[in-house]
Amino acid sequence: MDLDHSPVDSLKGVGPALAEKLSKIGVTSLQDVLFHLPFRYEDRTRITEIAAVKPGDVVVLEGDIISADVAFGRRRSLLATLEDRTGRISLRFFHFTRAQQNSLSQHPRVRCFGQIRRGSAGLEIYHPEYNTAISSDLPDRLTPVYPATEGISQLRYRKIVAQVFALMNKGELLADLLKSVHPQGSINDALELVHQPPPNVNLEALLSGTHPAQQELAFEELLAHQNSLRLARAEANLLSAPQFTPPGKQYDRLLTSLGFTLTGAQVRVAREIAEDLGNSSPSLRLIQGDVGSGKTIIATLSAVQAQENGYQCALMAPTEILAEQHFINLTNWLEPLGISIAWLTGKIKGKKRIEVLANISNGDASIIVGTHALFQEDVKFNKLGLVIIDEQHRFGVHQRLALREKGNTDMLVPHQLVMTATPIPRTLTMSMYADMDCSTIDELPPGRIPVTTVVLPDTRREEVILRVKAACATGTQAYWVCTLIEESDVIECQAAEVTAAELADQLTELRIGLIHGRMSSNEKAATMKLFKENKLDLLVATTVIEVGVDVPNASLMVIENSERLGLAQLHQLRGRIGRGSTKSHCLLMYKAPLGETSRQRLNVMREISDGFQIAEEDLKIRGPGELFGTKQSGSVDFRIADLVRDHHMIAEVAKLSRQLVMNEPATARAIIKRWIRSPETYSQA
Ligand code: ADP
Ligand code: MG
Repeated sequence: MDLDHSPVDSLKGVGPALAEKLSKIGVTSLQDVLFHLPFRYEDRTRITEIAAVKPGDVVVLEGDIISADVAFGRRRSLLATLEDRTGRISLRFFHFTRAQQNSLSQHPRVRCFGQIRRGSAGLEIYHPEYNTAISSDLPDRLTPVYPATEGISQLRYRKIVAQVFALMNKGELLADLLKSVHPQGSINDALELVHQPPPNVNLEALLSGTHPAQQELAFEELLAHQNSLRLARAEANLLSAPQFTPPGKQYDRLLTSLGFTLTGAQVRVAREIAEDLGNSSPSLRLIQGDVGSGKTIIATLSAVQAQENGYQCALMAPTEILAEQHFINLTNWLEPLGISIAWLTGKIKGKKRIEVLANISNGDASIIVGTHALFQEDVKFNKLGLVIIDEQHRFGVHQRLALREKGNTDMLVPHQLVMTATPIPRTLTMSMYADMDCSTIDELPPGRIPVTTVVLPDTRREEVILRVKAACATGTQAYWVCTLIEESDVIECQAAEVTAAELADQLTELRIGLIHGRMSSNEKAATMKLFKENKLDLLVATTVIEVGVDVPNASLMVIENSERLGLAQLHQLRGRIGRGSTKSHCLLMYKAPLGETSRQRLNVMREISDGFQIAEEDLKIRGPGELFGTKQSGSVDFRIADLVRDHHMIAEVAKLSRQLVMNEPATARAIIKRWIRSPETYSQA
């Protein structure tokens, strides 16, 4: 019996129903059980005194319930007070039963577990797990918590894991696939440590993901990911793509009609792309370029090269606003050359849609600009030769592929270009885009006036408001960005609404607009249009304006609670200004006191304007264990690896992956199979 082929229902107590549920989370073999890793740990090994807790702590408390009443606030809740010999704390339940209320009203002694937060009744725990029949033993190990196991309780899953380890203790072990090429500890020991951390484990290391066992696993996972990207690329290289002739007359006419000359960096990248397009295998190239570096014209030039060769080009943007902006730019540039451009978004319906679809399928449209709508079933291209995706991080690999599939004419698959303004440090690019060739536009067009950035506490809000007033009085437009106040999107939007209303009270002479994520895309587009047409002076917004919006006359941006944002996001936001001929200012307001990391981040924003330099600083500032940031830059969900925390291993992973894919493809695949759910779908991806 070996773990990687034994089905999960070979375990005692795992029948067809449970096996079915397990397969939904990608667990079908015993090996899969082991690679469904805990994503965090709970420390339930000791009881904390109420007097010692602070917001954010996750603790076990034990004491007496001294009251339990229904509270009527914005939301009805059951509010119980727990008391130990050191203090009191509130337990709040938004969902509760009569029986629960009655039981707590008996003032039982309880042991409860949950996260401390600041609530309207002081320190509170929302929906603690609690137990009135207190057994005396606390667990002596950390409790692993597994990612969503729909319909399978954590306890159940832990028992399944325990069974597999029991088998391993009898000698059923996983192969150490990397033994010969990358000597490290045993994978079996590493897995045991993360699933069943022993009582004396280095807690701090484990909780921050830096324990050697976790690092070994992270290394293998990063390797699996790179292997899969590289193998998929190797497969794609076996396919054929239309081979374009070098840029011709139209291309040159476009260049001379622009009214500006390309920067050196643009010239270099345009040449790299043109060479790609001359290959007979499908190219896949990432174009990185800071906001404002001029990626659109580069995309347009390559679209023209496709058109010159009689092929269509699809240009896709993540939002309607961006797609429309591209459509307008391309129309301005290409209409004089007689190149026809179609425009397709979800908004285009009925007769108009039928007409556009016909233009796409009969080849009348050479360039098709749009949103996700371009993926839809009914969109048939006539002869798709090039796919350009703007702002890649919002699209998954799968979506990219769906569009590539649309190309299959004469067995030829289209070339692909992916453009991103998300500055990603070089090491991370290596990992996330191991399958792509990369070009960087590392130069801004001349004449840009750098944005001046000021950092100031929100106690100076009145001053900031006056500043907005003065700026708008001179004809400038301004953004006022409200950032995440809570994890909730709803609350963020409410906050933006409140801010807009307050500002309207104080700035009666200004025309103020509001844009946030809960508005329909029609409403958003309408507001954006007013702002672009200078019919609004001030745009109050949540971070939805982040990507790509171009209003050169806007030269002032206020960002509230800027300390809550990551550097990449701050940089993206700030990139909305400094696009015109006037000097721009960015005011970063923060709520004191500033933590050390936030202080460093805001300093970086004040001192550096280059996105890639900011990204490198970001990597230095974020200590291990700070998990955020990777999400915003990648579409990859790792089980244990964290690109930021583990970036130091990426260069070695890349080297090893290249070797394995070339010399030991079977090993490369075995590693993928362990780590990546359903390798079949992945390698198609
Ligand atoms: P991004 O890389 O952020 O997508 P855009 O393509 O929107 O940047 O370009 C920003 C602005 O700069 C546009 O108005 C564009 O026409 C202009 N631009 C692009 N390249 C140059 C250049 N070489 N010289 C002057 N202006 C340029
Ligand atoms: Mg752009």
